[in-house]
Amino acid sequence: MSAGGARLAFDRGAAGRRAADVPRFAGTPAPLPDARLLRDELRLPELSQPELVRYYTELSQRNYGVDSGTYPLGSCTMKYNPKLNELIAGLAGFTDAHPQAPEEAQGTLRVLHELQAALGELTGLPAVSLAPAAGAQGELAGVLMIKRALEERGELAQRRRVLVPDSAHGTNPATAAMCGFTVTQLPTGADGSLDRVVLARNLDGSVAALMVTAPNTLGLWERGIEEVAAQAHAAGAYLYGDGANLNAILGRMRFGDLGFDVVHLNLHKSFSTPHGGGGPGAGPVCATPELAPYLPAPIVGARAGDGFELVRPERSIGRLQQFHGNAGVLLRAYAYMRALGLDGLRAASGLAVLNANYLRALVREHYDLPYGGPVLHEVVFSGSRQRRAHGVRTYDIAKRLIDYGFHPPTVYFPLIVEEALMIEPTETETRESVEALAAALVAIAREAAEEPELLHDAPRSAPIGRLDEAEAARRPVLRWSPGLDP
Ligand SMILES: *Cc1c(COP(=O)(O)O)cnc(C)c1O
Repeated sequence: MSAGGARLAFDRGAAGRRAADVPRFAGTPAPLPDARLLRDELRLPELSQPELVRYYTELSQRNYGVDSGTYPLGSCTMKYNPKLNELIAGLAGFTDAHPQAPEEAQGTLRVLHELQAALGELTGLPAVSLAPAAGAQGELAGVLMIKRALEERGELAQRRRVLVPDSAHGTNPATAAMCGFTVTQLPTGADGSLDRVVLARNLDGSVAALMVTAPNTLGLWERGIEEVAAQAHAAGAYLYGDGANLNAILGRMRFGDLGFDVVHLNLHKSFSTPHGGGGPGAGPVCATPELAPYLPAPIVGARAGDGFELVRPERSIGRLQQFHGNAGVLLRAYAYMRALGLDGLRAASGLAVLNANYLRALVREHYDLPYGGPVLHEVVFSGSRQRRAHGVRTYDIAKRLIDYGFHPPTVYFPLIVEEALMIEPTETETRESVEALAAALVAIAREAAEEPELLHDAPRSAPIGRLDEAEAARRPVLRWSPGLDP
C-alpha cells in the first residue's frame, strides 16, 4: 500500500531541511577524530519541524488502543485505565527515588508494603512477593517455590509431574516444563470444568502440582474447586492457581479460602496498567504461610523501629530481576485499589461479568457457543457454523471487525474451542459500546451468509489490508532501502 500518508520519514522532506535552528557555535571547535573513522555518507531523514510533527502524529493515529475504542481481547483484560493512576506513578517522589538509597525510597517501600498486604487480603494468601515482572514470571516463581518445598520434603525425586488442564494458557505447561517437570494434560469436561474422573486417575504420588486457572479461559468457574484442592492435598500435591482472570471475582472470592497454595496475579490486567504493547507488567505471587520462606526476593518488610526495608525470605528461590520489581505498575495497582476500595473492586468485577453476559445474550443466536450458560469475565464463541456453511473462518470475522471500527477479539484460543472467538468486553465499556460491538458481530454473521467475499479480504478500510502473516513472520522487511514501497 503506497498511499501518500504511508511514506516513511526517509522518503519525505528534502536535502538540507532542518527541524530546529540553533545558533552557530562560537567557541573553538574540538578537532575531529581520525577521518578514517568517519563516514562520508550517512543518510538521515531531513525534515522541517511541522513535517516531523505531522509524521509522528500520523503514525500515532494509525495505532488502535483502548483510548481509541473498544478493545475486546479475551484473556487479556484490556480495560480502560484511569489517567489519574498514570499521574500518581509519575510523581517525582517515586520516579526520582534511587532504589539503592533506602531512605529516599521509604515512600515507595511503604506503598509496596501496603500493596503486599492488600493482595494478601484479596487472595486469602498472606505471603506476597511483588518481584515477578509478568504473569509468566509469577508462574515460574510459584512453581519453583513448589519445587523447593518438595525438595525440602525429600519428595522431589518421585514427584515429577505437573497436571495442567487443556484449556490453560500456554504459559502454564511452559512454566512446568521450564521448572523441569513433565506435563500431563487433563481434558475439560462438557461443562467446561476439569474432567474429574481423569483427574482422580492421575492424582498420585508422582504429582508435584496441579495448575488450575480460576475462572478458566472459557470464562467459566472451575466447579468444585474446593474438592479438587482437597483431593490434590490428599495426594500430597500442591494446588497452583493462575489468577490472571481475577477481574471476574475481585473482592468476591479468595484463592486461599478455596484451598490454593500459591497463585500469581496479573496486575497489568486486573489492576490498571496499559499493556497493549506487551509490557511492562507485574505478576506478584501470593502464597500460604507454608510456602512463604521460598518467595522470590525481595519482599518489603517493616524495620524494627520504623520504616521499611527489602528483605530476602529465608529459603528464597532467589531474585527474578533487579530491585523491587516493576515499581510503576505496582504503584498504579495501589492507586487503583485505594481509589475504588473493596466495594469499588467488587462493583468492577460485577460489571465485567454483566458486560460479558450481555454481549453473550445479544450475539448467541448468531454464533455457536460450545460451552453454553452464563459466563464470568469473558465469553468464547465459535465460528464453526460460519466455516461449515459459508467457508468463512474466524480469522476473516476478526479481520472484518476492523472495518467496523473495533479491535478484533482473541482468536483460536483456548485451543479446545474450534474456530474460537474469545471476547472480553471488561467493566469499563458502557452499555452502548457493548451493544455496538454486538451489532457489528451480528452484521458480520449476516455478511458471512450473504456476501462471504467481503470477509475474505477484510480489512478493507485499514491502512494495511490483509497481510500474508506467515510470509511476514518468515521474511519480515524491517529495514528501509531507497525506493521501498511500504
Ligand atoms: C495473560 C495470561 C497469562 C500470562 O501473563 P503474562 O503477563 O502475559 O506473562 C497466564 N495465564 C492467563 C490465564 C493469562 O490470561
